[in-house]
Amino acid sequence: MFLTITTTGTPERPATDLGFLLHKHPEKAQTFSTSYGTAHVLYPEADAERCTAALLLEVDAVALVRRGKGKGRGGAPDAALAQYVNDRPYAASSLLAVALSAVFSSAMKGVCNARPELPAEPRPLRIEVPALPARGGPALVRKLFEPLGWTVTAEPVPLDTEFPQWGDSRYVRLELESADRTLAEALRHLYVLLPVLDDAKHYWVSSDEVDKLLRAGEGWLPGHPEQKLITSRYLSRRWSLTRQATERLELVRLAEADDSAVEEIDNAVEAETETEERPTPLAVQRREAITAALKASGAARVLDLGCGQGQLVQALLKDPAFTEIVGLDVSMRALTIASRRLKLDRMGERQAARVKLLQGSLAYTDNRLKGYDAAVLSEVIEHLDLPRLPALEYAVFGAARPRTVLVTTPNVEYNVRWESLPAGHVRHGDHRFEWTRAEFRAWAEAVAERHGYGAEFVPVGPDDPEVGPPTQMAVFTLTTPKEAKAA
Ligand code: SAH
Repeated sequence: MFLTITTTGTPERPATDLGFLLHKHPEKAQTFSTSYGTAHVLYPEADAERCTAALLLEVDAVALVRRGKGKGRGGAPDAALAQYVNDRPYAASSLLAVALSAVFSSAMKGVCNARPELPAEPRPLRIEVPALPARGGPALVRKLFEPLGWTVTAEPVPLDTEFPQWGDSRYVRLELESADRTLAEALRHLYVLLPVLDDAKHYWVSSDEVDKLLRAGEGWLPGHPEQKLITSRYLSRRWSLTRQATERLELVRLAEADDSAVEEIDNAVEAETETEERPTPLAVQRREAITAALKASGAARVLDLGCGQGQLVQALLKDPAFTEIVGLDVSMRALTIASRRLKLDRMGERQAARVKLLQGSLAYTDNRLKGYDAAVLSEVIEHLDLPRLPALEYAVFGAARPRTVLVTTPNVEYNVRWESLPAGHVRHGDHRFEWTRAEFRAWAEAVAERHGYGAEFVPVGPDDPEVGPPTQMAVFTLTTPKEAKAA
């Protein structure tokens, strides 16, 4: 993915001022590493008359190869680009926007310490993006940029120049021109509109996304005729607005419980690791049992549904057998802690390409969860009200349908063995129910039957002869892969 920014100048107002505006010196190429890949800034041309800066984003090559069809067709830059066009349908213009804001953050804000007057002065600008993923095609590209005063050239890119009969790809070659524009404005247009056109899924997105949109859209978004489309796409490529509203309501319900859950889990883990004599904490035993079951299933791409603070995601990342790990949770707070725990922003490219955190609710079917080898629901089902369990069941077993599903939940019979637990009390304030072994087995077997899975049961923790283990785990394996059953 790349884009170029060109300006022209005169001896009094040289084009090379672009270097000041971008805070990047025209004479040296620079490299920046972002969590999504490596960004390069270089100047193919730089003199008083004309100056062009190029921003080039290299998205993780390992992911590219893993996606399968990435056979290079030679070393020319165009061949590399063609590979993106053909093999990376989700490619990277939203990532390019992220890189843009990271690499040119001062320029985007219109700040230039060396030449404070410069950012406010409009100048001729030409922006070129040779392959821009654009859902809605050239027509939408024009609708988005023309009201902002750009002269727009948007041409569809053919899927393959050797086979014109294949038709056009979802990419356009974009050229924007304006005789008098500030660079800050131009960058803010791109920052918002590239992802809007891409309309693709994204990696972890922080919760202040609405703020970011409003900040970048200041001065132009409020009056834009396509404001509605821009706003809804900008946000909905992460999660739909309606769902966000629904989930926020759910969040309110979870907020208090979630706070205590977070601390309880943390304390349990830390307290137990302090003294070596103490037995392995149950949470650790659970993760070990889950990891072993995943390995036995041969899963490489794994969902951790209701991932909480991401401890399992973190454990799975240590094993290269797991090539892709997606953590999903309804709680933004839990996800924020998870992303900090995983140090997502400081992760190397290869690691970062293996992990994704998503906000979402298991009470709704979610297309993002399709196509994985395995899904884990570790201590999650008991957090849902019983009447919502069928919705979760359908979302996981009916819609996402991974080959293997692991579900763990407390065994209520074991509660008599917890010294600290007053008899008859559930273990956690937000547990909506806790099941006996028979109850869990009955539920799991019915689910398996309804959706074409087989179910096996594995004890986790000390298997007490009388009351069974503290945690019970069901291992579901798909037996009738093609059958799409209704709820
Ligand atoms: N899996 C983790 C966390 C369990 S706590 C572990 O084993 O330690 C339960 C988690 O489920 C919480 O993080 C909570 O936010 C999440 N959760 C509850 N209801 C949910 C829903 N409807 N959709 C997605 N996640 C949900």
